[in-house]
Amino acid sequence: MIGGYTGKILNIDLNSKNIYHSRLDIESAKKFIGAKGLGAKLLFDMLPIKTDPLSEENILMFTTGPLTGTSVQTSGRGTVITKSPQTGLFLDSHFGGIFAAEMKKAGWDIIILKGKSKNPIYIKINNDKIEFLDASAVWGKECKLVHNWLQKKHGRVKTAVIGPAGENLVKFSSITIDGHRHAGRGGSGAVMGSKNLKAIALAGNNKISIYNPKEFNQKSKEVLKKIQENDFVPIRRKFGTPFWVKLVNDEGLLPTRNYQEGYFENGNKLNAATMQRNIVDSSGACYNCVIACWNKSSIKKGIFKGVSLVGPEYETIALMGSNLGINTIEEVAYLNERCNELGMDTISLGGVLGFAIEAYENKILTKDDLQEIELGWGKTKEIAKLIDIIAKRSTKLGNILAEGVQIASNKIGKGVEKYAVHVKGLEIPGYDPRGAFGMGLAYATSDRGGCHQRAWTVKAELNDPELDRFSFEKKAKIIKEIQDERASFFSLVLCDFAPISEEDCVDLLNLATGSNYTVESYLKAGERIWNLIRIFNLREGLKPNGDKLPTRFFTKSFTKGPAKTKVLSKDEFKKSLNEYYKYRKWDVNGKPTREKIKELDLDKYLKLIDIKKIK
Ligand code: SF4
Repeated sequence: MIGGYTGKILNIDLNSKNIYHSRLDIESAKKFIGAKGLGAKLLFDMLPIKTDPLSEENILMFTTGPLTGTSVQTSGRGTVITKSPQTGLFLDSHFGGIFAAEMKKAGWDIIILKGKSKNPIYIKINNDKIEFLDASAVWGKECKLVHNWLQKKHGRVKTAVIGPAGENLVKFSSITIDGHRHAGRGGSGAVMGSKNLKAIALAGNNKISIYNPKEFNQKSKEVLKKIQENDFVPIRRKFGTPFWVKLVNDEGLLPTRNYQEGYFENGNKLNAATMQRNIVDSSGACYNCVIACWNKSSIKKGIFKGVSLVGPEYETIALMGSNLGINTIEEVAYLNERCNELGMDTISLGGVLGFAIEAYENKILTKDDLQEIELGWGKTKEIAKLIDIIAKRSTKLGNILAEGVQIASNKIGKGVEKYAVHVKGLEIPGYDPRGAFGMGLAYATSDRGGCHQRAWTVKAELNDPELDRFSFEKKAKIIKEIQDERASFFSLVLCDFAPISEEDCVDLLNLATGSNYTVESYLKAGERIWNLIRIFNLREGLKPNGDKLPTRFFTKSFTKGPAKTKVLSKDEFKKSLNEYYKYRKWDVNGKPTREKIKELDLDKYLKLIDIKKIK
C-alpha cells in the first residue's frame, strides 16, 4: 500500500453481524483522494438508486483521508458519508476531535455500515477486533452520559454516539464525537438510529505509514510555522468562531428572528467579548491542532447556572441566538447544551424553531398545537421545552417539526412555507444572503443543501474592494473555484479553519502518499468529486430547478442595519446561476455535459446520466 492510507476498509453488516475487510482501491484513491471524495465514490457505487435514507439499505460510512492522524496540523478530522434523510441527497458531515485519527490508527481508512441490528447495540473496535455489544442500558440516554459510560467501561476509547433525537429519527439529528464535537448537518444521527446503533467506541495503536516520513515531517513543521505566523490565528485561538458575531451583525447579515432582519439589536450581548467575559473558562483543541479554537464554557449566573459545554460556536449563536431573539449568551449556551445532549444540529434546529415561532406569531400554529407552550422570540424556557418535545417527537407538532422546515411546512400548509428558510430541505446557516449576495448562490448550488462550508464568500464580499456584496457580479466563478478547492481539502481531510495553501496541501499529499499531484490535478480532483456528487444528486431526484433559494430573500427587505432595503433580484440570481453552470460546463438544467464528464474521467457515470435522461 502507498503511504497515507491504511489500505483497509471495514465492512459491517448489522443484519447478520458479518464483518469483512476489503482493500482500498488505489486508482480510486488517486482520483478521489479520501474522506469526502472516496466516500462519495463508494456511496454512489454501493447504494441502490432511490434508497430510503432511513431504511436498512442505506449506507453509513465513517471516512478518513490520507492526512488524517498524521503530524500535520488539524489532522484529527474525519467525515460521515450517507444519503441524507433531510434532503434525500448526498451528505458529507465533517467532524473534529480525535475519533478519526484513532480510527486510522486502528487500521481503517473507512468503516462501512449496512443493515439494521435487531436490538440496540454499540460496536467496539480495538484495532482489528470487532465486537457487537448490547446498548439497551444506554438506549434513550443523552450523549455525554453515553460517552462517559463507554469510557468507564472500556478505558480511553474514542466515541461516536447518538442521542435520543437520533434514536427517534429526528431528521436533523447529529452524531456526537468524543463527547463534544459533532457531525452535525443533514441527519446522519437519524441514519445511525435507524440501524439501532447507539455508538461506536474505538481504540487503535498502529503506526500510520507515510511514503516519505522524513520530508513529510519537515513539511509539517513548515506548515506549523506558517500557521503560527498567520495574523488571524491568535484571534481564532482567543475568540473561536464567535469572533464573527460582531462583524456579521455590524454588517447587517446576522439572521434575526427567522431571517426577518439582518441586524440584532442585542448583538453585543451575544458577541465574542461578552462570551469571553461571562462564560468562557479556557480553550481546547482537536487532535494535533495548535490553533486550539474551542471555548470551554460554563454558565455562572441565572437559572441555568452550573451548565457547562464546549461552545457555543458562531453558527449556534446566530441560529439559536439572534435568530430566536435570545438576548443573553448564557441562554444561548444553555440551549446549545440541550441540543448537544439530545443530539441535534443547532443550525437546523435554530431554523426549525424560528419557523415555528413565526408561524405561531402569525396564528398559523395555535396554542392547541403547542400544548401549553407560550412560544415567542427570546422565550428561552419555552423554547427549551419545545426542543425536548422535538427530540422525542412527543407531541403531534413535535413530530412534524422533527422532519425539518421543508417537510413540516408541507404538512402544516396554510401558506406557512414562506417562513421555511432552507435550500433543498437543509436549513441555512448564519449569513443572510441579502447582506452578501454571493452566499445566495453558494447556498443554492451547495452539494448538500443550505450550507456555508462549500463556498464561504462572506469575508471576501465584505473586504475585497473589487467585489460588490450587494451584487451577483463576479460571484459565479469564485464560488465554483472555492467549491472545487474545498472538495479536495475535505478529502485530505483537514480543518476548514486551517490556513494551509493549496501548494502546501499538494506537497503534504504527495509526501504522504508518494503521488505526483500538481496544484492543477489536485483542484481537478475536487472538480471531479463535485461533479460526481452532482450526478449522484440528479440520480436521486434533484430537479433542474432545485438550485433555488427561499422566497423571503427575494421579496422581503430588512428594516434595519447596513443591508436595509436590500433584496435579491430573481433575474440577477438566475443570470448568475446560468453563469455558474457555464463555468462548470453544465447544461442549462444544471446537468454535467458529456464533455465535462469525459474530461473528468467519470465515463462510467456517463451511461447512467444518459439513461436517466434528466430534463
Ligand atoms: S481549528 Fe479548531 S475546530 Fe479546527 S482542528 Fe483546530 S481546534 Fe479543531
